[in-house]
Amino acid sequence: MGEIRTKNASKTMTETPRYDVIVIGSGMGGLVTATQLAAKGAKVLVLERYLIPGGSAGYFEREGYRFDVGASMIFGFGSEGTTNLLTRALDAVNVSLETIEDPVQIHYHLPQGLDLKVHRDYEKFLEELIAKFPQEKTGIRRFYDECWQVFNCLNAMELLSLEEPRYLTRVFFQHPGACLGLVKYLPQNAGDIARRYISDPQLLKFIDMECYCWSVVPADRTPMINAGMVFSDRHYGGINYPKGGVGQISQKLVEGLEKAGGEIQYKARVTQILLEKGQAVGVELANGQQYFAKRIVSNATRWDTFEKLLPPEVMPAKEKRWKNRYQKSPSFLSLHLGVKADILPPGTECHHILLENWNQMEAEQGTIFVSIPTLLDPSLAPPDHHIIHTFTPSWITQWQGLSAKDYQKQKEKAASDLIERLEKIFPGLTDGLDYQEVGTPRTHRRFLGRDDGTYGPIPKRKLAGLLGMPFNQTAIAGLYCVGDSTFPGQGLNAVAFSGFACSHRIAVDLGL
Ligand SMILES: Cc1cc2nc3c(=O)[nH]c(=O)nc-3n(C[C@H](O)[C@H](O)[C@H](O)COP(=O)(O)OP(=O)(O)OC[C@H]3O[C@@H](n4cnc5c(N)ncnc54)[C@H](O)[C@@H]3O)c2cc1C
Repeated sequence: MGEIRTKNASKTMTETPRYDVIVIGSGMGGLVTATQLAAKGAKVLVLERYLIPGGSAGYFEREGYRFDVGASMIFGFGSEGTTNLLTRALDAVNVSLETIEDPVQIHYHLPQGLDLKVHRDYEKFLEELIAKFPQEKTGIRRFYDECWQVFNCLNAMELLSLEEPRYLTRVFFQHPGACLGLVKYLPQNAGDIARRYISDPQLLKFIDMECYCWSVVPADRTPMINAGMVFSDRHYGGINYPKGGVGQISQKLVEGLEKAGGEIQYKARVTQILLEKGQAVGVELANGQQYFAKRIVSNATRWDTFEKLLPPEVMPAKEKRWKNRYQKSPSFLSLHLGVKADILPPGTECHHILLENWNQMEAEQGTIFVSIPTLLDPSLAPPDHHIIHTFTPSWITQWQGLSAKDYQKQKEKAASDLIERLEKIFPGLTDGLDYQEVGTPRTHRRFLGRDDGTYGPIPKRKLAGLLGMPFNQTAIAGLYCVGDSTFPGQGLNAVAFSGFACSHRIAVDLGL
């Protein structure tokens, strides 16, 4: 392992580090790690490159609208079980949030006239799906019921670090059935299980879309553990929107972090992880300031962590192998719209997915995602107006090498194409526009600090379920990763899981 010496690194290392833990980034993964550790008495410093916390779960305000940057379909706010990790993360630092129940997870508008809603009520959802595919009645029930088996195993145990042997032993003796259940599902993908019960090609495509809309890969490459979690928790804890917008979650966690004695600095871009004899000991910021800690956690993506914050010669072999199995998912073209309220007919749901042709599901700007959070919390927009946040997968390669003028022109064209497609489900949208802002993969890269603006890692090919996703420890001593580049992957509740696991492993390592 190479040794990197920067200005005062070696001198300072003779002193006791001022912090127990430094967390690079205040995304949900970083903040859950930081708050959990602060609650256990660790001295924690969070360094965030942007002006506010939250990363992909942040917000911005324009002309009376408060827009969510990314996430808006929020799992993890349930009140029961163990998988309600956002509720638990807030509780741990004595803060809380009011949430608003969403009665429908998604209203799908799919090819071949397949129009249906995933109701919070499980039986109501199954009835609606079975009415569309009566010949698959038994298969539908078996598939979704099997997802519940996965969920029930997860929801029976405290979700902490799978890298901590004493915890694993304890959990095994407390819940042997649930553990064996999870071991069975860990290497499996949702598509294999769906095909065991279902043969209708259109229904299998629907299951692909059910996975794609959060995993950005079809069912064959979506781990069954994640599918079990999503397809059941939406009916158990449900989808709940935080009052005041998604940005409130990170604001509250920061409040809790500070109450627990932790610190956060904004406009603090880490440019280098400092190593001493191959061990991570500190970080250096863009302004040259260095900080040292007993443990360093990166909430940046794996590509940013190992390719930008560390020199190439220290890239661990394990990371090289990981890159052979996983690739960057596309980023998004995002439209943040303010619209007149009367264009939305009564009964419009908050979240929609639109696709006109099954072959385009994974294509550049194929599937369209829509969120209208003001249907749940009208305070996010001026009176008689709504927010429509719509986004569609897009690769950064589509947006590079353009002059400023051509970039602007391409943005405008992409926005008007998207709006034209959305007219199918929201007639009158164009005439009802009050505000419009377009974000591209370049915007995601710039504001979220994510390589190529990626949504996160996706398997390059079919893998054995979640077995290939790395946990929080890395091959570099003292360095941990947290967030969507670690087990179990993307989504706010998933990265919160990663934060619980990361903080647990570090707390054990530090003897807290
Ligand atoms: C458009 C979109 C829609 C989504 N919709 C949903 C949804 O509906 N439901 C859901 O659950 N999930 C959704 N997601 C996914 C979810 O938002 C992410 O998986 C999750 O927020 C990722 O959290 P994270 O902690 O891993 O990383 P991030 O949110 O990326 O946070 C990382 C943080 O680290 C900071 N950082 C990076 N590098 C440095 C550095 N060098 N120095 C200092 N700071 C640094 C960044 O500024 C950022 O604040 C969506 C994502 C997007 C983009």
